[in-house]
Amino acid sequence: MSLRLRDRRVLVVGGGAVASRRVDDLLAEGALVEVVAPEPSERVVALAAEGRLVLHRRPFAEDDLLCPTPAWFVLTATGTVDAAVATACERERVWCLRADDADASPVHRPSVARGAPGSPAEGITVAVSGDRDPRRAVAVRDAVLAGLDSGTLPVRRRRPAAEPGATHAEPGSSLPEHGSSLPEPVAGRVWLVGAGPGDAGLISVRGRALLASADVVVADRLGTEEHLALLPEDVEVVDVGKHPGRHGSIQDTIHELLVSHARAGRRVVRLKGGDPFVLGRGGEEVAYCAARGVPVEVVPGITSATSVPAAVGIPVTHRGLSTSFVVASGHDGPAGLGPLLHATGSTLVLLMAVGRLAEIADALVAAGRPPATPVAVVEQGWTPRQRVTHTSLSDLAERAREVGVTNPAVVVVGDVAAVPLDR
Ligand code: SAH
Repeated sequence: MSLRLRDRRVLVVGGGAVASRRVDDLLAEGALVEVVAPEPSERVVALAAEGRLVLHRRPFAEDDLLCPTPAWFVLTATGTVDAAVATACERERVWCLRADDADASPVHRPSVARGAPGSPAEGITVAVSGDRDPRRAVAVRDAVLAGLDSGTLPVRRRRPAAEPGATHAEPGSSLPEHGSSLPEPVAGRVWLVGAGPGDAGLISVRGRALLASADVVVADRLGTEEHLALLPEDVEVVDVGKHPGRHGSIQDTIHELLVSHARAGRRVVRLKGGDPFVLGRGGEEVAYCAARGVPVEVVPGITSATSVPAAVGIPVTHRGLSTSFVVASGHDGPAGLGPLLHATGSTLVLLMAVGRLAEIADALVAAGRPPATPVAVVEQGWTPRQRVTHTSLSDLAERAREVGVTNPAVVVVGDVAAVPLDR
């Protein structure tokens, strides 16, 4: 059980360090606090001077329980008269928390922590009782909160959250009011989350936490399957990799989905392979949401451009071989590469290039890259189907045809492509 002490008379007996800490908690709950203590702490004196509590500078008297009105709850932390206070409370049937003796105390205080505003655990109170081992309780409490914040424990809201300020709770009070009407739903949000390539372990902690708190996940197929399989059944998954839109282009459909779900108050995760802002049209999705007043945030991912070569031991830069790399889409063939064709000193990393390998290789040689330049083609990086094919610019097209290279693949052109072969 947890008590809602707002506007109820609470008596605190004692004014030392323990009592002062609890006074702060009680005031945060909105309780009407009265302190009885012959030698109160500076903190208690200051709060009394501010009019936030009533202070009696004298020892406890039994009348304090009932006058001027009966107390709902008593906290005693005197170190000397706690047993006597507890006995008096027992007689008057007032619940009493004894700081001196947890076993003898009718009320037990668990170790409590609350999810931070803005974190996935926002709105959650974690209370752990530790069987006379308070440090253990604190460790468990903090681990639960961390699990909620990192998405390893289920944190998703089943009901709309309260609009900030929609409850009658005052600043500092983290327990919302109960009873009255349901709170106004908050407007939803969109997060563009980079899922990384292939392996589910290559998402960021933040991305994973957001995924665990999402109501709707709008996902590409590439790099997201494992994450989708882990989602609870009641999360709505829209697989935009598989189902092309009925009206207009798939990109228009995605834009409309994001905005309409967010406007319905949902937490929408747009899960994209790799990094959302690397050849992923993430910028368009952000702009579309922002222009319609939908709050949108980007959570970067590990791009296939660097991580897929890394999966087979290829560093995109390497001391003595290359101090720069350029990432380009091969989708439009040599024309899409423009001046990059001539950047012969840089490692060239090509995405979406499988269909245009012959033309691109020819154009690179024509622009000055030696025909013997090492090339590596890495298919399905970070999946069990990963395969690397090592070749050279002059042999690239033929070799790719021989082995039957298919999408998705990253093509690395430059001396670094041969690095793992030299090891
Ligand atoms: N935003 C993504 C890229 C999207 S474009 C990112 O940052 O990684 C899609 C292209 O990425 C594919 O055609 C392929 O070239 C590359 N790609 C993505 N995942 C891959 C993987 N696991 N293995 C090989 N290539 C991959």
